[in-house]
Order: sequence, then C-alpha cells, then structure tokens
Amino acid sequence: MKKRPARATAYLTAALLVLVALRYTPELPNTPAAAGVLQQMTPRTVAQFVAPVVASRTETLNRGETLIGLFRRVGVSDVAAQEIVRAASGASIQPRYLQAGMPVEFKADSAGQDPTELVFHLGIDRLLRMRHSPQGWVGVEERLPWTTDTVVVGGSIKSTLYQAMDAEATQYFPSRAKDELTWALADIFEYRVDMSRDLQVGDQFKALVVRSVGPGGITKVGKVLAASFNLSGAEISAVLFNSESASPQYYDATGRSLRAAFLRAPLEFRRISSNFGLRRHPILGRLKAHKGTDYAANSGTPVRAIGDATVIRAGWAGGYGNVLELRHRNGYVTRYGHLRGFAKGIRPGVRVNIAQTVAFVGTTGMSTAPHLHFEVLIGGVQRDSRVALKSVAGDPILRSERGAFEARRAQMLASLAGAPGIVRLASR
Ligand SMILES: [Zn+2]
Repeated sequence: MKKRPARATAYLTAALLVLVALRYTPELPNTPAAAGVLQQMTPRTVAQFVAPVVASRTETLNRGETLIGLFRRVGVSDVAAQEIVRAASGASIQPRYLQAGMPVEFKADSAGQDPTELVFHLGIDRLLRMRHSPQGWVGVEERLPWTTDTVVVGGSIKSTLYQAMDAEATQYFPSRAKDELTWALADIFEYRVDMSRDLQVGDQFKALVVRSVGPGGITKVGKVLAASFNLSGAEISAVLFNSESASPQYYDATGRSLRAAFLRAPLEFRRISSNFGLRRHPILGRLKAHKGTDYAANSGTPVRAIGDATVIRAGWAGGYGNVLELRHRNGYVTRYGHLRGFAKGIRPGVRVNIAQTVAFVGTTGMSTAPHLHFEVLIGGVQRDSRVALKSVAGDPILRSERGAFEARRAQMLASLAGAPGIVRLASR
C-alpha cells in the first residue's frame, strides 16, 4: 500500500485532539467529538455486539511504527484504520506513547474483511478491547485480575538459604521472586541472624508470605507476615505487627522488637557473594592471630555501621589497609578492614547511625581478593561477633498493645505451623 504520510499525520493530529478533549472531560464521554465513536459501556452491553469470529491474528507494533502504519501492514482499510485510531485515542491508547512490541489482536467476521474486534495488550494486566458496533467503534479497558493468596514455605538448610529456598519454594515462586523472598527474610532477621554465617546444615526456616499472581503467571512477593528460624534448636520467630504507636514491624515470640542496637552483619546479605566466599582466607587464614570475620563481596560494596557510633579511626593501618573503627555507646568498638575507601564525610569524631554506609569493600593491605574483614572489640580485645552481638535485645511491645499482639502472634504462628503450601490464615 502506498504511503501517505501527510494524511497519516492529519489522522494522528485529529486523534490527539480527540484524546485531549476526552482526557479533560472524562465524566462526559459522549461529547460531540466522541459521539458515535466511543461510548462508556459495560461488558454486558458490549457483548451485544459480539459476532462469530472466523479470522484472527496477532501482530506486534514495530519500533517507530504508528498505529496507522500497523493497520496498513495488516491490510486494514484506511477508512477503518482512521475510525479505530480515533476511537482508541478516546479510550486508553495514547498514540505517541505506545510501546514497541505491544501485541494487537485482530479479529474479523470473515477472512479478508476489516476487523470487527481488536485487542490492544497495553500491559501485563491491562488490555483495551475494541468492537465495531452499529454506532461505531467502542472501546472498553479491561484489567486482568491478580489473585492474592498466602503461602507457607519452609524447609531445612543443606548449604545456603538461597539453596534451601530454591529447593523448597520453586512450586510457589519463580527464581527472581525466590531471591526476593530470601532477601526479605535476611532483612527481617538482620539484627539477630547473619544469614551468611549463622546457618548450619539441618537448621530450619519457615515463612508465611503473601503472594500475588498476575496474568501469565507473573508472581510478586508480598509482605512476609511471619517467619521463623530454628538454629541448632534455638527458635527465633518474627511476627509482623501493626502497632498503633509505631510503624509496622517485626516482633519475636516474646514480644520484643527484632530491631536492636546492632545489626548482625556489616554487609547486606543481598550484597554478599552467594558462594559465601572465603571459608579460608587466602593469606590471613594461615595466621594464628586472625580474629575476625571475613565477608567476600565485590569491590565497592557498601559497608554499613552495625550500630550508632562515633568514628575513632579512618585511615591506613599496615596489614588492614584502609581501616575504619567505630566506638559504640556500650563501649564496643567495631573494626572494618581492607577497605577501598570511606564514605563521604567519614573521619575521626564524626557520628554515624546504624545501617549508614560508612565505607566500601576493597582489597587494600594484606589481602589478595576483595573482602571485608570485620572485628568486634571489647576492652580492646577481639571477641567473637557471634557472641558479642547476640545479647542485645530490642524494645518490648507496649504494655497497652500486649493483648492485641498476643492475638496476632497466635494467629500467625498457627498459620506458620501448617504444612508448606497455600494456607487460609487461622482465625483469631
Ligand atoms: Zn580477615
């Protein structure tokens, strides 16, 4: 078909004018500009125009292609194409902002004729269905439904939390969502459990999580309502509770906030190499004096202050390379070594907050690969961070909210206790 860009431009201009008119008079769809072209109709009235469809095909919009261009390519007559574009513009199509690759279904009553029905797939959960009626083309936007349910996932640790989630949650979540759920659990327990260090073979985890499944099976991880880890027999639960006095947060089974004075690890779990890195330190692992924890991570990974603190050292120190030391309120000192560098403004005397980025992972000093060397010192002596950071518990729930919390806890933990799978939340 011969190209007539001037006419196409005129059609598009007209379509845009209709669009503009409609956009500013949404409560009056039957304006003169739209009369006979677009009517707001319920699916039921639209169904009156359904005719048997004998020819159907789906095409996608090419990069840089206009709707008119697409219709011509498909063989739609210019008159019909013009009407459709005008009506579509009055519905939910914005001709200038169409995405290349958008599928458009064409259905005709008989092969070789102009279509009587078009379906524009505007997004994963949105489509515009247009039908030819005696009054002209009618468009109705449809939202494809998302279903929301609640799922219990859980299992035992054989190597890592990633591996365990992969083994146990595949039935309910695709790969990307499994990683998101893994990170969400690490975040919930980040004051209590270092998911890269504290898990051992045979430890158990469980999570009660809201899941949304959309058209085409796309799956989103919603809120984690409750979760638990059983670490060598010690159970730590987390229950999401909407306190009236604070933002929603997680509490353990005794009603203490999972937030505490110290994070269990100076790197976010999601940023640590999933191979868990340096079981044996390339150099320091052979030295008796090595007292600290090493985290493998890419150079440049942000290092977090594990608690509110004052910077007492930020500079070069022999084998540590660039090293940062923070003094915390209870007298603990934390030390971060082999850093590539420090965050802006970090120098002795500066106060920093918990979880603030204070430095970046590197491989300076006595180090052969990027990693963070982390120490906790009490009275100037290195201590096992696993022990030193463990004792600090969060604030208890307010006495006035104790009853509401206990009801919520009972409901959530009962649901969590069920077998893995889709669950109905236990009633209160
Ligand atoms: Zn080290």
